Amino acid sequence: MTVSLVQVDDEVVRVHCRTWRGAAVGYDVSAYAMRGVLVDTGFPRVRHDFLRVVADLPLHGAVVTHQHEDHAGGAAALAERMPLHMHARCEQVLRERPDIGFYRRSIWGRPDRLTVPLVPFDPAPLEVVALPGHTPDHLGVWDPERRILASGDLFLGVKVRVAHHDESPAVLIQSLRRAAALEPRLLLDAHRGPLPNPVPLLRAKADWLEATMELVAGLAARGLGEREITRRVLGREELVGWVSAGEYSRRSLVQAMLRDTARIRD
Ligand SMILES: [Zn+2]
Repeated sequence: MTVSLVQVDDEVVRVHCRTWRGAAVGYDVSAYAMRGVLVDTGFPRVRHDFLRVVADLPLHGAVVTHQHEDHAGGAAALAERMPLHMHARCEQVLRERPDIGFYRRSIWGRPDRLTVPLVPFDPAPLEVVALPGHTPDHLGVWDPERRILASGDLFLGVKVRVAHHDESPAVLIQSLRRAAALEPRLLLDAHRGPLPNPVPLLRAKADWLEATMELVAGLAARGLGEREITRRVLGREELVGWVSAGEYSRRSLVQAMLRDTARIRD
């Protein structure tokens, strides 16, 4: 397990967190420190290393982008050391500490329960922006002067063919367009790392999701079932679809798109 600091920009430091388990499935995750604000808190398995490494950074608070354990893993421990900002729904989940699937527990670990009250803080001159879709509580952190957006799991890639069972692709499309409209010059993606010139990428992802949703809705209107639609539009499940017992899968993306289509129609 390693947590290392990488200087990205004048005032941006990447806190790169890896484990051999994550590396085995092609995952690592990064938190970022910008202008005294930490964005995300690593995953539970590295929390001791994470806390030791970020203790050397000049920080006055942290923002947790969303409830997933690879972003909120160190939140319970950090809340005892510095002010923390997160969506109310994220705070609720961290206090309730629901069980998570075996594959998530084994790669990232399960977060400790958040028990202390959060100390609020003002991240100015940075701004916290709501970017829901990946989860309902998803936030980004925007530096309007330097045009840098710390985007959590907003992007991840243009054609991400898998989704968590509770994602909302329709809401994600709106957030991608909102992020593109900010015209960032640098996107700090939690899994892809820093991405320069991200506006075409954000738009391409929104366009691909829109086109895919139309395809899925069209096949459903012709009476095809979820399994057949998934096979035709997205192809066969990837390893993660099987390992997660369908929780993070292509089928879940189709289900989420059909749910959104029905919601928009009603
Ligand atoms: Zn996530």
